[in-house]
Amino acid sequence: MNSRNYDICPECDLLIDLAQPKIGEKIHCPRCDLLLLRPRKQSIERTFAYSIAGFILFFPANFLPLVGITLLGNVNTGILMSGVIALFTIKMWPVSIVVFLASILFPLVHISLSLLISGHLYFNHPNRNLVRWMRWMHHLDEWVMLEVYMLSIIVACVKLMAISPLELGWGLYAFISLIIITTLISSSLDKPLFWQRIEHLAKVNPHVR
Ligand SMILES: [Zn+2]
Repeated sequence: MNSRNYDICPECDLLIDLAQPKIGEKIHCPRCDLLLLRPRKQSIERTFAYSIAGFILFFPANFLPLVGITLLGNVNTGILMSGVIALFTIKMWPVSIVVFLASILFPLVHISLSLLISGHLYFNHPNRNLVRWMRWMHHLDEWVMLEVYMLSIIVACVKLMAISPLELGWGLYAFISLIIITTLISSSLDKPLFWQRIEHLAKVNPHVR
């Protein structure tokens, strides 16, 4: 079968007749030069591996202390959630909710979805929810903002360092690794390929739909 594959450039709305690019090849919009397709090598395998790593890292990043500070002889440690609670107790509810969603809940859901999707594709396991999961993940993309939280941690650390020596905790290292892993997940996840494989799985297993 040699079906033609048309697509619309999201930037300039040009209708483009897309040829299937090879791995390593890039397809740009002929009018505005936007990068449209860039098939990633071993996308499913890599996304699956990074998602497992990210899922495991999520727990130390959230439950181990990020920093420790000694004040008047007492050692205080802070985990990710304590920032959210601190904001909540000083009545900054909207900020605390946004921080909770963007730095804890959405990243967890996003990693779980990419783990579920890439796992099903890796094992060629059909599931009627794959399309729904892909859609949810697509919507979450712009809501995962770990870097923003990282910046605020750095600012807080610099301010605290003026008062007392700081000890960096394992949670902080796990959190930094989690940021790197989420970046790797989004760079390895080849959406057109994932959609293609989901479509193919549904075609060969019509009873699952
Ligand atoms: Zn264009």
